[in-house]
Amino acid sequence: MQTIDKFNFAGKKAFVRVDFNVPLDENFNITDDTRIRAALPTLKKILADGGSVIIGSHLGRPKGPADKFSLKHILAPVSKLIGVDVQFANDCMGEEAVAKSAALKPGEALLLENLRFYAEEEGKPRGLAEDASDEEKAAAKKVVKASQKEFTKKLASYADCYVNDAFGTAHRAHASTALIANYFDTDNKMFGFLMNQEVVAVDKVMTDIQRPFTAIMGGSKVSSKIEIIENLLSKVDNLIIAGGMTYTFAKANGGKIGQSICEDDKLDLALSLIAKAKELGVNLVLAVDAKIADNFSNDANTQFVPVGEIPDGWEGLDIGPKTEAMFAEVIKNSKTILWNGPTGVFEFDNFTSGSRAVGNAIAEATANGAFSLVGGGDSVACVNKFGLADKVSYVSTGGGALLEAIEGKILPGIAAIKE
Ligand code: AMP
Repeated sequence: MQTIDKFNFAGKKAFVRVDFNVPLDENFNITDDTRIRAALPTLKKILADGGSVIIGSHLGRPKGPADKFSLKHILAPVSKLIGVDVQFANDCMGEEAVAKSAALKPGEALLLENLRFYAEEEGKPRGLAEDASDEEKAAAKKVVKASQKEFTKKLASYADCYVNDAFGTAHRAHASTALIANYFDTDNKMFGFLMNQEVVAVDKVMTDIQRPFTAIMGGSKVSSKIEIIENLLSKVDNLIIAGGMTYTFAKANGGKIGQSICEDDKLDLALSLIAKAKELGVNLVLAVDAKIADNFSNDANTQFVPVGEIPDGWEGLDIGPKTEAMFAEVIKNSKTILWNGPTGVFEFDNFTSGSRAVGNAIAEATANGAFSLVGGGDSVACVNKFGLADKVSYVSTGGGALLEAIEGKILPGIAAIKE
């Protein structure tokens, strides 16, 4: 497999798929440029080598060309961050894109208009009537899939090599994230630096595992985490279940959970996960006490009670101190740690303690040599809120992509380069 650090881009044109899907305010100012900054090492390396870059990205979820989703709005900040005057092509497919990419000289960069202005990028038909029949849907899909080949081939024709640095879309088999790789031979396609870091981090919790391995799964619902929990059960030594899921497990075990969030149709599933953990010799760690509230608000009255003894009219919004200590003990004795999802409603300042305790324990374990990966949604917001982002080994930039990777799925964007 080709690697970006070894590749010399001198005199080459690189098509770089980035994730510049940044949040914008009503005046099109970027409110968080993290995603652009994350791609800078890759873009700068190519330019410094004496190569040129054709940058492709999506922005938002357009249903066709729309000024609101134009990448022209971010051209100036992108130029400033990369440190060169980036050119712009108003249409990723038009004559302008062809001419401007062909004329690029070493050290120059071109940003293409939003790739998702074309349905071919995602390969999904658009504008279908809501009551379209299955036959109509299938026919429309066939049409877009056929034109997707031409679309992909044309994007590939702009460049000599392909670099994928968009981990956030690696779980999508889109034209620019996966299919395009078919038009480059193995020596001329590679991950960018960001993508590479993500792939290495995922490998460390999926294959290249140092033991003991502890996963902390929080968040609201068991239903959204089933596949992850099932996949992790065959890999971890300790599985900590926290957050809203706690109460589905507690009720399944015969406990009283008051008004706590619970999925009544998942009680059997919770029991089967408990049984499976036992069968596999996994230490399934469930909360023993909860910080309960008399309504769902930051200012609610609170008390600490055992998890299965929550009175009617009260709900568990975070773990209690005994559970914090128990979780911390397990985490601190781990060599590999994966954290996905808060232990409670961390958005309310009065219910952050459990998530903070988990974050601190992970930081301590990391300082003692453990590898820790945090990602897949709200746990990233947690480590940022608690100032712990630089005290864990890696904070993933990919929400859905990371979740699919830890569900054990093959990500098309990664497979397209690795094959
Ligand atoms: P997820 O997107 O599934 O990772 O869930 C994250 C959300 O779960 C956050 O918004 C938390 O506020 C919420 N959450 C965590 N614990 C609880 C709880 N005990 N009750 C209700 N919501 C919770």
